[in-house]
Amino acid sequence: MAGDREQQLRAYVEYFRDMGIHDFYRRGEPVAIEAIEMAAAVSATDPSPIALEVAPVPAFVPADTPPIRGFQEPVIPKLVSFNDLAPLPQGRISASERVAALQAIREEIGDCTRCPLAYAGRRNIVFGDGDPGARLMFVGEGPGADEDASGVPFVGKAGQLLNNMIGAMGLKREEVYIANIVKCRPPANRVPEPVEANTCTQFLVKQIDVVQPEVIVALGATAAMYLLGVKQSLASLRGQWHSCRGAKVVVTYHPAFLLRDPRQKGEAWKDLQMVMAEMGLKAPAKG
Ligand code: URA
Repeated sequence: MAGDREQQLRAYVEYFRDMGIHDFYRRGEPVAIEAIEMAAAVSATDPSPIALEVAPVPAFVPADTPPIRGFQEPVIPKLVSFNDLAPLPQGRISASERVAALQAIREEIGDCTRCPLAYAGRRNIVFGDGDPGARLMFVGEGPGADEDASGVPFVGKAGQLLNNMIGAMGLKREEVYIANIVKCRPPANRVPEPVEANTCTQFLVKQIDVVQPEVIVALGATAAMYLLGVKQSLASLRGQWHSCRGAKVVVTYHPAFLLRDPRQKGEAWKDLQMVMAEMGLKAPAKG
């Protein structure tokens, strides 16, 4: 039962995360847990109603509290857009050099141990997949179990839906380039921590600079947040053009979210139609 409730709660939180809502706030004043336990113990022995008096939890450290020696303030990482992470590339790598340039980035990554995901059960680093000269690039959040096992992005259920979305745009999967914000699977498919994403994105920046797509589709709130350097709801980012390293960016729902809430597929299709109009793509004839 407890497992069911945990799964339900996890799905609920993921739903809001997919919508770009990351922070949850508790309603009302915090209540000391000891007070609740004591009240429960008293009411178990005394059936008369009791008034629960809860001591207020101090919201700040009094000014005369001596500082703890050696204590370091935690550094809260700042969100930096991909445009501001490195100077924009001057010129374009020739088609014949792109495969080698991507290979060089893969070699630079090596058997990476730069962030905690290296020690969290990763099996394969999921570098990226597709045409090194693609006009269109998709960026997801991070590998799941199937991707971790195969080393290829978007090969599980969400990947099958992404393949269908690409097909509906009149393209083949091999004609686009697909990558993720982090290249190693976060345990239990949790959202990558900022330190993990911030460590890994240097390589995605380089991949984008080699492929130089005309359009990037950010799949879900995590991809949008790191590519654009903004923490906003998906709803506020959809339906308009953004920019990332010389490419035009559209933000849409993550395919895993669409699997959970297929009613939003029509909305995602509107986002993809913006891309098709921009790139002069035609949906294949039905038949
Ligand atoms: N979800 C992602 O964000 N990326 C993948 O590669 C697979 C699932």
